[in-house]
Amino acid sequence: MTKKLGLQTICTHVGEVKDEQFKGAVSPIYISTSYQFEDVDVKRYPRYFNTPNQEMLSKKIAALEHAEAGMIFGSGMAAISTTLLAFLKTGDHIIVQNTLYGGTSNFIREEFPKYGIEFSFTDGYEVSDFEAAIQDNTKVIYIETPSNPLLTITDIKGVAALAKDKGLLSIIDNTFASPVNQNPIDFGIDIVLHSATKYLGGHSDILAGAVACSNEHMNIIWNVAKNLGGSLSDFMVWMLERSIKTLVLRVKAQNRNAKKLAKYLNTHSDIKNVYYPGLKSHPQYKLAKSQMKGFGGMLSFELNDELDATAFQKELKLIKPSMSLAGVESTMLSPYKTSHGLLSQEERDSIGVTNGLIRFSVGIETKDDLIQDIEQAIKAVKKQAQVEA
Ligand SMILES: *Cc1c(COP(=O)(O)O)cnc(C)c1O
Repeated sequence: MTKKLGLQTICTHVGEVKDEQFKGAVSPIYISTSYQFEDVDVKRYPRYFNTPNQEMLSKKIAALEHAEAGMIFGSGMAAISTTLLAFLKTGDHIIVQNTLYGGTSNFIREEFPKYGIEFSFTDGYEVSDFEAAIQDNTKVIYIETPSNPLLTITDIKGVAALAKDKGLLSIIDNTFASPVNQNPIDFGIDIVLHSATKYLGGHSDILAGAVACSNEHMNIIWNVAKNLGGSLSDFMVWMLERSIKTLVLRVKAQNRNAKKLAKYLNTHSDIKNVYYPGLKSHPQYKLAKSQMKGFGGMLSFELNDELDATAFQKELKLIKPSMSLAGVESTMLSPYKTSHGLLSQEERDSIGVTNGLIRFSVGIETKDDLIQDIEQAIKAVKKQAQVEA
């Protein structure tokens, strides 16, 4: 039934917890950790991911990603680590792309050697990069598109088809696009992951993760998830349900703002590079257009060499220089200090994360105010550069 509902209706209504007692307009929160024993296989218990709020929000996640099943986790990394450990064991091999979220990259590099799980990092710009990395013991191909922070695009359909052909599992981190802009299951991907801390939550006040996939794959994930215990509290599950009601409105506003800001930055004489998949000048614009319904709220750019990126961010008055992304408020950061801070300078240079690169999470503010803020900050750093020269 949910398949036929429009996206905004799914966001607003699917997975509501019915208030049978008082007929309230919104879902009640069930915070019990103990439920009366019923003659069923699995009793309700928060770590089993099956309290009323957890169970119902899972349905919303599944509907949003065109999947049979969904599951909510205590963080994006809980969703990612649990899912990978569910499908990989000692002696197995996974292929991932170089431009991976820093936390996922660290998880793989630091934890997998302890379990004897092998991994290969590939450029991942072409499907053939993944194909070339396949070994006899490969089990999973894992992608992230658009990538952080350079917004490179991976061919979802191509990778999914390759995985099917070789009998491998395909997994995608769909955080940057959100389910509004991209539905990878429609292109044949097996498992979709989200840091719900980002667009699904959208207000910089919820840490959560989500998985969407078939019932069969979800059973495998659930069996590991209940052992690892990365569930989300029902208070936060409720907060996330409430936040997703406005997901479409927020993301569409962010798509619009980001596109306008990307165009503005792209023609600015003090800016040398802009990375945004919605710009016709993006080398993978056509591919992005073929798999995304909107181009998202994330972009990156570099100021001209003589202008200091840190000084520029200090001069911003409206846009907040801060960690994380995808909130309704605009934020900027230097990836070399934050998301990619654990990589060496050589590793960063090899993937294009220069010290001058600024990642911009575009919010829902009035576009002209954002432009005005950037203009005044550029003016201020130009003045500083002149004084120093
Ligand atoms: C933030 C993020 C994660 C990790 O999510 P947490 O909620 O911080 O654990 C994973 N992938 C991407 C793309 C992210 O941006």
